[in-house]
Amino acid sequence: MPLVTTTEMFKKAYDGGYAVGAFNVNNMEIVQGITEACQEQHAPVVLQVSKGARAYANHTYLVKMVEAAVQECPDVPIALHLDHGPDFETCKSCIDGGFTSVMIDASSKPFDENVEITKKVVEYAHAHGVVVEAELGTLAGVEDDVKVSAEDSSYTRPEEVEEFVSRTGCDSLAIAIGTSHGAYKFTPEQCTRNEQGILVPPPLRFDVLEEVSKRLPGFPIVLHGSSSVPQKFVDMINAHGGKMPDAIGIPEEELRQAAKLSVCKINIDSDIRLAITATIREYFDEHPDHFDPRQYLKPARQAVKDMVAHKLIHVLGCNGKA
Ligand SMILES: [Zn+2]
Repeated sequence: MPLVTTTEMFKKAYDGGYAVGAFNVNNMEIVQGITEACQEQHAPVVLQVSKGARAYANHTYLVKMVEAAVQECPDVPIALHLDHGPDFETCKSCIDGGFTSVMIDASSKPFDENVEITKKVVEYAHAHGVVVEAELGTLAGVEDDVKVSAEDSSYTRPEEVEEFVSRTGCDSLAIAIGTSHGAYKFTPEQCTRNEQGILVPPPLRFDVLEEVSKRLPGFPIVLHGSSSVPQKFVDMINAHGGKMPDAIGIPEEELRQAAKLSVCKINIDSDIRLAITATIREYFDEHPDHFDPRQYLKPARQAVKDMVAHKLIHVLGCNGKA
């Protein structure tokens, strides 16, 4: 099948009590790892591209690699999505350039300005058969070159969502309920420690999610910054010359719970980066004489595939839904 929008996959996800994974793609191995897992698990998927990915890999290369995945995985519904579109021009360029979904992130702007920018993107996108994700509330963390401190982050205000959605006409809404971008989602001071000394983050604000869902029945909600920063990868990195003390993510059980509610799309990026880095660090340590990139990129791609398969089955619940 050709690239699809997220309309049908979100409707099925909402009704079926699961979420679709949205994974960031930056190179061929990542595209292959993700889509091979989705093909084997019969899972729909959103492949998303950030501004940083376009700067790194070039728009055309990314689109063509995703088109190759569409061809290689004929049973998998794949949406190609712009992650964190910063302005109308970037969204327009992706809409004109073959994407089926774009995010306009004007969440750092005042409410009325966010509405105005989002509405403009929605009008252009809908006229071209493309869907739009918008954002209300501000996540903490680091996303490409945008860094938001915990103090400057803010939970979504449920009382604003109906007006925002009806005025903008957006198709899905990213909200802030305590997830965060990057591999250092919380400072140790924000966390408690369990008996093993492992940091436990503050719980997600399910009360905010429930209030939003009550006000927007049937409307797809999106969670950004939803990597779990598996301790296994952090330990591998640290055991093989890396230095990532106190890296911490969102517990998988909480994401599983959100996926059963109105959350239809869960963004996972840092876990892919960690899987790749951990695998390559270990490989270099064990094979100091190897220098063929295929030798270490092959297990790295396999690590992405294994990690994504785990997410599809145990976190998102979207396996068998394609
Ligand atoms: Zn994000």
